[in-house]
Amino acid sequence: MSRAKIVAGNWKMNKDYEEGLSLASEIIPMVESEASTGVHAILFPPFVHLHAIASLVKGKNHIYVGGQDCSMHTSGAYTGEVSASMLRSAGASHVLVGHSERRQYYGESSADGALKIAQALAAGLIPVYCVGETKDERLGGQYEEIIARQLQEGLSALSEAQMAHVVIAYEPVWAIGTGLTASPEQAQEVHAMIRGWLRNHFSAQVANHTSILYGGSVNAGNASALFAMEDIDGGLVGGASLKSRDFTDIVKANR
Ligand code: PEP
Repeated sequence: MSRAKIVAGNWKMNKDYEEGLSLASEIIPMVESEASTGVHAILFPPFVHLHAIASLVKGKNHIYVGGQDCSMHTSGAYTGEVSASMLRSAGASHVLVGHSERRQYYGESSADGALKIAQALAAGLIPVYCVGETKDERLGGQYEEIIARQLQEGLSALSEAQMAHVVIAYEPVWAIGTGLTASPEQAQEVHAMIRGWLRNHFSAQVANHTSILYGGSVNAGNASALFAMEDIDGGLVGGASLKSRDFTDIVKANR
């Protein structure tokens, strides 16, 4: 199966500039020396750290930097926004789109996600499109329907060729930052469903080649069991990505 194995660290709004550079300076050599070269590690620091950290990863094998968000617009009078092409020019190769915190606190929809994905792809960035259900949606048994809708609204306008440059992250909202992790079986069920959706809407080729990451309280203790599941190609890690030892151990768990 030729899918990229990925472990991504979403730093969210943590670490000032010096702390961020120091964390990246710890993580990069640890991941380089300890992790298998088959795994891609992606750091998602705050925007202001991005260019400096991109300089640190330049020329390193399989270590990348991305933005936590990008504008749905190309350029112009959008105060406070950062465009996909700005991220690219600062050294980013990836961008998170549709993270549940963007959906929850900033009212972002999957339709907004589709616009951001289009911007990212046009700028040469790989979007990591996040989907996932809330606790009520899971308890109400609606999670498959919710996730299918997020996939439909975010991705269905793309071509098969574009899908070769898209990563998906399944992040159950009830598991993000809560310490509650989906069991490997619960996560696998949804990952297989997402892969089935890709097969139906695009092709077997797209389904087989798209990396699908799990996110939600991944840590060094639970990562191996999650990554061992057939359709889980890695993790999107929040809290545990802020500690170099923990993040490196999670990258190592993805063999
Ligand atoms: C995230 O922010 O994408 C995330 C999964 O956070 P945490 O690992 O802290 O749950």
